Amino acid sequence: MRSPTPYHDEVRDTELYRQLLGLEKPWTVDRVELDVKQQRVDVWATHDKPKAWPCPECGKDCGLHDHNEERTWRHLDSCAFLTHLHARVPRVRCAEHGVRQVRVPWAEPMSRFTALFERLAIDVLLETSISGATNILGLSWDEAHHLMERAVARGLARRPHAAPRHMGIDEKAIAKGHRYVTMVCDLDEGHVLEVAEDRTAASLTQCLGQFSMNDLAEVEAFAMDMWEPYAQTLRRYVDDIDTKIVFDRFHIVKHMNEAVDLVRRQENKALRADGDDRLVGTKYLWLYGEENLPTDRLELETRMRFAALRSSNLKTARAWALKESLRDLWSQRSRAAGERWWQRWYSWAIRSRLEPVKKVAGMVKRHLPNVLTYFKHRVTNAGSEALNSVIQMLKKRAFGYRSFQNFRTVILFRCGGLNLYPEAHLKPG
Ligand SMILES: [Zn+2]
Repeated sequence: MRSPTPYHDEVRDTELYRQLLGLEKPWTVDRVELDVKQQRVDVWATHDKPKAWPCPECGKDCGLHDHNEERTWRHLDSCAFLTHLHARVPRVRCAEHGVRQVRVPWAEPMSRFTALFERLAIDVLLETSISGATNILGLSWDEAHHLMERAVARGLARRPHAAPRHMGIDEKAIAKGHRYVTMVCDLDEGHVLEVAEDRTAASLTQCLGQFSMNDLAEVEAFAMDMWEPYAQTLRRYVDDIDTKIVFDRFHIVKHMNEAVDLVRRQENKALRADGDDRLVGTKYLWLYGEENLPTDRLELETRMRFAALRSSNLKTARAWALKESLRDLWSQRSRAAGERWWQRWYSWAIRSRLEPVKKVAGMVKRHLPNVLTYFKHRVTNAGSEALNSVIQMLKKRAFGYRSFQNFRTVILFRCGGLNLYPEAHLKPG
């Protein structure tokens, strides 16, 4: 008579975890402890006695020296049970590199997580906020942040150092305009390449530090604001820079938006002194491009009111029309057409008797050659994916980040286009 072979006798929990962890010779699972009360699984890995272990530096076969103290790695949960892997890692004595701890197949050196756990954590962190991820993964804020730092360092080490064809340079106000960061982007890929504190020449130099002069010489165009410290910095590092700088649409329209807002504020003040409330509460309406008015979200009454304001003889309406019109500069077909178009707009703007608008017109005129370089390179930060994603992040979180370095980590983690995953791979069982 055949003896019954109950399931738990055939597939032991040690074999199950060996397979789940994808452990291969010489590694195997020694024992598994399940603590139902604590909702915890602990797995101990061990090894049989191979003739030699590879040195982690040179890969040369070496003899076993000794074992380190037991270490613990957080692994993927087993159902809802927190799961930890424990092992004493062998050390080898390499003739060239001395006594070294061997590499384990389930984790990167120094990590407190298995590679599979890190992959999951990275995926979760990419999808949610840090605090959301800490809840889902059962990690502390520091653990989650450290995991992101390691992922970013890994990604940066793997990134090719060639500079992008089209580079976007931008300054962003953080903490309500009291502080700035400088950001360098790959406009073709839509990735943030680096961020640095402040918006000085030194900030940009720091961002460009990762590239060689030869790499920078390969960049065809730099889209940026009319900001002298940046232009001077580029002049120092790049030959023929005056053919490559594009003072771009995004920044010029931003200056015009600020001018419109200034006109509106002054006019609103004057009108209200006469008991005229027409401009009250209209700030954001004037900032939209004509075609971007969120008509689906605006009540009919607001839309009609704004239409009436636009066609009124208010100064704000004139400033707005000038701003809207200026945007056509970039749809001209050639540099020559662009230049002619600009002359007409400029004489209109300069006769507008709107001081903030005249100021922007003068600034653009002084920088005109490098505004018109647009017609050669056709680049702009407007619509830049990298820029937009950072703006969205800045909007969502009004600076809980403890320091600039943390902020940089988060930006590069989310917007850097980096290969973040750990190298050590556990093959699925
Ligand atoms: Zn070695």
